[in-house]
Amino acid sequence: MKNYIIALDGPAGSGKSTIAKIIAKNFELTYLDTGAMYRMVALYILENNIDYNNIQAVEDILHNIKVDIIGDKFILNNIDVSLKIRTPEVTKIVSPVSAIKAVRTKLVDLQREISKGKKVILDGRDIGTVVFPNADLKVFLIASPEERAKRRVRDYASRGINEDFETVLKDILERDHIDSTRKESPLKKADDAVEVDTSLLNIEESVNAISQLIKEKIGG
Ligand code: C5P
Repeated sequence: MKNYIIALDGPAGSGKSTIAKIIAKNFELTYLDTGAMYRMVALYILENNIDYNNIQAVEDILHNIKVDIIGDKFILNNIDVSLKIRTPEVTKIVSPVSAIKAVRTKLVDLQREISKGKKVILDGRDIGTVVFPNADLKVFLIASPEERAKRRVRDYASRGINEDFETVLKDILERDHIDSTRKESPLKKADDAVEVDTSLLNIEESVNAISQLIKEKIGG
């Protein structure tokens, strides 16, 4: 079967990465977690004490950042940062960092490059609107903020990180706000995306709903 692109967009905690990983395995697709790429840039900025409000300062150091993805490992300048990019400290600054145009241009180019000639599922915020406006299938996942915060708290706890529900909910609402009101590639549903609300669906049900869409639209 020919190559194809599946765009899976939605806000933080809507279940994108969990679902995308399973779909990628079941349909033998390459999975690209674009949020992890923005997190790697945010981590570099954090570790090098760069002021992310100073756009010029961020633009000046972008050429020092080498982002690689090898299997399920995220490599920043030859160091595996797969765990480090998921800490609350990185999560707190990733939205303002990813609102910077030069950051987006660098990573979008890389996302298109990695996807070339493959069957791919990408998860993110702007995949169906900006990165691949001609994607073969676009899905926009949503879930209530409370449900998303609950999932994030569980996810942190499973990695030994203690964050309380209220703090996580506040972070999620703040990220939603920055991601959907920014000038560059705001988080929004593409007109031709299918919306799936995962608030009341478990992982298996969410995967089934999207698998059905793939079969209908692509025939995979
Ligand atoms: O998906 P995840 O929560 O890991 O994404 C982290 C952040 O990266 C998002 O809050 C958003 O600010 C940014 N992002 C983005 N565009 C994407 C993917 C993520 O701006 N395609």
